[in-house]
Amino acid sequence: MADKQTELIAQAENDLLHTYNRYQIVLDHGDGVYLYDVNGKKYLDFVAGIAVFALGYNNREYNDALKAQIDKILHTSNYFYNEPAIHAAHALKQVSHMDRVFFTNSGAESIEGALKAAQKYASNRDGKNDHEIIAMEHSFHGRTMGALSVTGNDHYREGYGPMPMDVRFARYNDLESVASLMNEKTCAVILEPVQGEGGLTPATYEFLKGVRDLCDQHHCLLIFDEVQCGMGRTGSMFAWQKFGVKPDIMACAKALGCGVPVGAFLTTEEVGQNSLHAGDHGTTYGGNPFATAAVCEVLKLYEKYHLVDHVNEVAPYLEEKLDELVSKYPCISERRGAGLMQGLYFDRPVAPIIREAMDRGLILINAGADILRFVPPLVITKENIDEMISILEPVIAKEDGKRS
Ligand SMILES: *Cc1c(COP(=O)(O)O)cnc(C)c1O
Repeated sequence: MADKQTELIAQAENDLLHTYNRYQIVLDHGDGVYLYDVNGKKYLDFVAGIAVFALGYNNREYNDALKAQIDKILHTSNYFYNEPAIHAAHALKQVSHMDRVFFTNSGAESIEGALKAAQKYASNRDGKNDHEIIAMEHSFHGRTMGALSVTGNDHYREGYGPMPMDVRFARYNDLESVASLMNEKTCAVILEPVQGEGGLTPATYEFLKGVRDLCDQHHCLLIFDEVQCGMGRTGSMFAWQKFGVKPDIMACAKALGCGVPVGAFLTTEEVGQNSLHAGDHGTTYGGNPFATAAVCEVLKLYEKYHLVDHVNEVAPYLEEKLDELVSKYPCISERRGAGLMQGLYFDRPVAPIIREAMDRGLILINAGADILRFVPPLVITKENIDEMISILEPVIAKEDGKRS
């Protein structure tokens, strides 16, 4: 007889739309930085649900806060105020140094809102409706049509017809390339301060500062997508804060709810006052009391655990250990990343390495076919990093032995 996991997977493949080639694991529960499948097998988790579960799994205080909110009210509507959303917006403003908050249900929705705000800001200013946006090659902003239209990866866009916005793609970290695309129609530049899916590539200070200056000269807005690199992952609450280059609009999600689906886009007061007004944008679920109770508790626990300081303490150790792998194994060409958002570049597809690591009890993912990605829970310790390396290194050594 097939085991429980095999049966469940067969059922899933019968019922779910096949939009993912899933790993053959049915996850059941988590504790700290460990996950367990339905057969009880234990895994060390270096994915965190893709940069989501910053606090680690089964955090008592987080769980209690959510349970308390369930017993009060889960959902109202944005026609009313609710207390968790009021507190969450205020707390998010304080850590982000932005001025206005709009809560969404996902990263892609935050991008949609950011793009709408930028378009509206421009059309309120010049009365026109034919603005252009500059986005980056190798960017990733989500799977909805607006977010797709600024995603610089043909594979994600193919077959979906004309994209809804006029977008030009510049080369990341190449200021000249951005400057050459800017014209009187440009209303915004959108970029990730550290590219996630595109290869864990951090922006240079010169690039971010240069784009900021270009935007100011041309009266266009700078949008930062901090959906993956935000919320402490790179060693500051939001990645731009380390650079000291502030956006006009910022999108945030993933770790914002640590498992509860919630995102937000935030604006400066200037953009808030002059873009989306009453009736211009909305959402049924966005910012509901359950999701924003999660945000409140997440931000509270970040502060309580000094999570951003912790990232700065452990990330150099992870970098050191990954650099050792780079120098030891010719099949790895380089490491890229910032903080607890790291990638190893291989000369071959990493899927076999990921599968073998999973067999040995370590969960990792890729970013593109040839890049191994490390986005662990932010509470990860040096001991956890040692454990990860002790599982991963023999797998890489074996793979390296095969030569490409
Ligand atoms: C994950 C991601 C998104 C999309 O977020 P969803 O919640 O999947 O819609 C957008 N931008 C970046 C940088 C991301 O990593």
